[in-house]
Amino acid sequence: MSAHAPSYYAATAKPFPAQPRLVGDINADVVVVGGGFTGLSAALHCAEAGYSVVLLEAGQIGCAASGRNGGQLIPGLRWGAVELAERFGEDTARQLLVIANSAGDLVRERIARHAIACDLRQGHFHAAVKPAHLDDMRRELAMLERLTGYRGASIVERGGVCDQVAGGDYLGGLFDANGGHFHPLNYALGLAGAAMAAGVRIFEHSPVTAVDHGAPVIATTAKGRVTARHGVLACDTMMDSVARSLGRMTMGIANYNVATLPLSPERARALIPSGAAVSDSRFVLNYFRLSADDRLIFGGGEKYTRRPPADVAEFVRPYLEKIFPQLKGVVIDHAWGGMVGVTLNRLPHFGRIGNSFFAHGWSGHGALLTTLAGQLIAEAMRGTAERFDLFASLPVHPFPGGPLLRHPLSVVGMLWYALRDRL
Ligand SMILES: Cc1cc2nc3c(=O)[nH]c(=O)nc-3n(C[C@H](O)[C@H](O)[C@H](O)COP(=O)(O)OP(=O)(O)OC[C@H]3O[C@@H](n4cnc5c(N)ncnc54)[C@H](O)[C@@H]3O)c2cc1C
Repeated sequence: MSAHAPSYYAATAKPFPAQPRLVGDINADVVVVGGGFTGLSAALHCAEAGYSVVLLEAGQIGCAASGRNGGQLIPGLRWGAVELAERFGEDTARQLLVIANSAGDLVRERIARHAIACDLRQGHFHAAVKPAHLDDMRRELAMLERLTGYRGASIVERGGVCDQVAGGDYLGGLFDANGGHFHPLNYALGLAGAAMAAGVRIFEHSPVTAVDHGAPVIATTAKGRVTARHGVLACDTMMDSVARSLGRMTMGIANYNVATLPLSPERARALIPSGAAVSDSRFVLNYFRLSADDRLIFGGGEKYTRRPPADVAEFVRPYLEKIFPQLKGVVIDHAWGGMVGVTLNRLPHFGRIGNSFFAHGWSGHGALLTTLAGQLIAEAMRGTAERFDLFASLPVHPFPGGPLLRHPLSVVGMLWYALRDRL
């Protein structure tokens, strides 16, 4: 994954100057490995805090998940308030939720402060496919409001679904005005531009082959080396390239998106009247939204084998047409895929190795949480580590089976959950 996928996002990316390869030995206060949302946010926050920062990216800025995702800004963690409270107690759940839910404001602040043109829109609708899912959403919202005083979210009953989405036979859902959607690649490129303006030196096409996490941290590439006081490992599904022990904690699941040709504004608005990002409550979820130029951007279907489908557009099309039969035969203009990094328990994994900080395993909530992670890392580096440490205290388990069996064993588990969608 070294160049941008031939996606709708790459086709509509804002101009961004190519950055040089690292050649030679340089020094900095902080070396960041990975130029996705996590690394870019960490680099920008560290530079704003006065550190000199070097960011090393294996390919182009935003070439992996950050430049390919559905652009859905989904508040919170993959675990809801009820599950967090049951597992960790109400106090810890409250703290986790308050921090996690600050990510939406932080992303909006980054976009406004740095004038990032990334088509930000407000609102996320989580659509229920089973009565039990809608009941869970009611319990979830009640708990979230009680624990944190959360505002801006409401339950949509079946009769109100038509104001959100014209398809999917959804039974209701949860609308959250704190969520939204954006053009993810332009957000990543905007963060990179802001980071450079704040003094960050970015090197592209400079894969790090080894990191010594001692004092100093030394990140080595084919033709150079960065020596720094602190490291930031922000490689998500590719963490094993810089720390073997972290590679075992996440798995990449291939996921695919398509963008239709632009629809007429009336047709587009008729599909999603609220203009929100929509994702449904299936285990293998459908998620979709309108682009700024009125295309439907639709993600659906996962593939548990490593080989991509021969024709990505035709792989996704049945999912799209099942939700929106009125779009049967619609022209699909762009189709692309990427790897979603998940942990075994679907909580993100934060921590330190020597003098390096890391954060990965966003489990489908990375579009918001990654920017927050960059802020928490910079905060911890400056000596205020409470918020980072709370996230670093979350339980984590390696995927079972070791390098060869990890993928097949996990696939069996996921196929079971996918089957439950159909029951
Ligand atoms: C198809 C798809 C749809 C998705 N939809 C959504 C969505 O709608 N909402 C949501 O919240 N999340 C979504 N996600 C997940 C989200 O995109 C990720 O959680 C998030 O982008 C992760 O950001 P990151 O910076 O941690 O990792 P990445 O974006 O993967 O960035 C890691 C970077 O590190 C670089 N790198 C790796 N190894 C090295 C090395 N050794 N040296 C130097 N650089 C290295 C990579 O090239 C890459 O650029 C989706 C993901 C995919 C693939």
